[in-house]
Amino acid sequence: MNSVKENCGEIERKLGLSLKRVGRERSSVQVIAVTKSVSSKQTRAVIEEGYIHLAENRPEGLALKQEEIDDDCLIWHYIGNLQTRKVKKVINSIDYFHALDRLSLAKEIEKRAQKTIFCFVQVNVTGEDSKSGVSPDELTEFIVSLSQYTKIKVVGLMTMAPLDASETIIRSAFIQLRELQEMIKKKNLSYAPCTELSMGMSKDYTIAVEEGATFVRIGTSFFD
Ligand SMILES: *Cc1c(COP(=O)(O)O)cnc(C)c1O
Repeated sequence: MNSVKENCGEIERKLGLSLKRVGRERSSVQVIAVTKSVSSKQTRAVIEEGYIHLAENRPEGLALKQEEIDDDCLIWHYIGNLQTRKVKKVINSIDYFHALDRLSLAKEIEKRAQKTIFCFVQVNVTGEDSKSGVSPDELTEFIVSLSQYTKIKVVGLMTMAPLDASETIIRSAFIQLRELQEMIKKKNLSYAPCTELSMGMSKDYTIAVEEGATFVRIGTSFFD
């Protein structure tokens, strides 16, 4: 087990190589530290290394971290499935929501939000049964139907690549998400600028960055 500081160095080194390969600047991608499995103490260690984007995937975990780490500079992301009845508990405490995948959730966000919520629509690009997310075929219709919700801004698309798949398969999933993002962006919808791509986790963030990710979500590589 390395220190968080050493892990940050390794993440930045690999990120730097990938960015260089495709001619992108470090500032074009935000690294979200996924702190769902670690303590507030470990979370503070990544903050000390300069990471201000943090992500949690359970309402209780989010509330606890925000209570223990009270810092106005932080930007909070909610990743993973959110039950409709728990929307009211989290929606006004976060800056970005990464798992918008059904209208019932959008409706509840509209009802509970006291501000504009920056949302990523989660897309199930590979069509795995076990995954949540809108299918690519239904994406346009889904996004068009979000126009009625004034509190929702679709900032981009999010996906999770298949676990333990080959690099070719993972890369093609990211390419597919990017093509979908560009398609939605071209529609120039005021409520769905769709300029961002949330893709890439510990095992595949280098590939994601090469394929245009603007937000990568990294947990294990920071803390193992
Ligand atoms: C846990 C999680 C991550 C981070 O995964 P690691 O493999 O630990 O980097 C990213 N995105 C989502 C949606 C997650 O649930």
